[in-house]
Amino acid sequence: MRIVLLGAPGAGKGTQCKNIVAQYSLLHLSSGDILRQERAADTELGQKAQSYMDSGGLVPDEIIIEMMTKAITNAPAAGFLLDGFPRTVNQAVELEKSLADNEMTIDFVLNLHVDDDIVAKRITGRRSCPKCGAVYHIEHLKPKAEGICDNDDIELVQRPDDTPDVVANRLKTYHQQTEPLVDYYRKNGTVYDFDADRTPVEVRDSIFEKMNALVKA
Ligand code: AMP
Repeated sequence: MRIVLLGAPGAGKGTQCKNIVAQYSLLHLSSGDILRQERAADTELGQKAQSYMDSGGLVPDEIIIEMMTKAITNAPAAGFLLDGFPRTVNQAVELEKSLADNEMTIDFVLNLHVDDDIVAKRITGRRSCPKCGAVYHIEHLKPKAEGICDNDDIELVQRPDDTPDVVANRLKTYHQQTEPLVDYYRKNGTVYDFDADRTPVEVRDSIFEKMNALVKA
């Protein structure tokens, strides 16, 4: 199974990806996570991506396409779930070409929808553990002890691009550059929409219901 998960920043892609890959034994390929790992390791790629990420803009297509093509080529046969990639129509076209070279296609696209004002609140309240990556929210998903990771007992941090100004720019970038991608995929009839303004469990269950039906079909 090869799946693309689309949705604005803060739509809950990370949370739902964890659910989906566990349920269907897929490899989770998150372009944002790979970029953050490259930055943490201070690689040349990480350094190149830094300024774009910090401003809420997109890292240039050629950098991302090379990085993700490499990750996909190494993916196991069971399949993968793409999270945060593609993010432009050009990236989708290049992805399609690279998959076709390996006689593969994207099976379906899941699209999480939430209004901007809700995602802005969700993202600015988001905190994560710098060690294990667990994600919390200051109101909706509190750790047992305020500001401390349940797993590692260390202080939670806010992603530098989760501040209000950067979030506003990320949403603008999403509408301008990533939303057209939904229409691009809609044209070949593979997009399934989900209302993500519900609890994570409700969203998860509606995704599983749809995916189970698709897998059986
Ligand atoms: P994310 O964790 O998916 O929200 O990604 C964090 C940041 O990484 C984004 O705001 C972009 O700057 C960069 N990024 C992640 N994926 C891509 C992509 N497919 N194309 C361009 N930039 C990306």
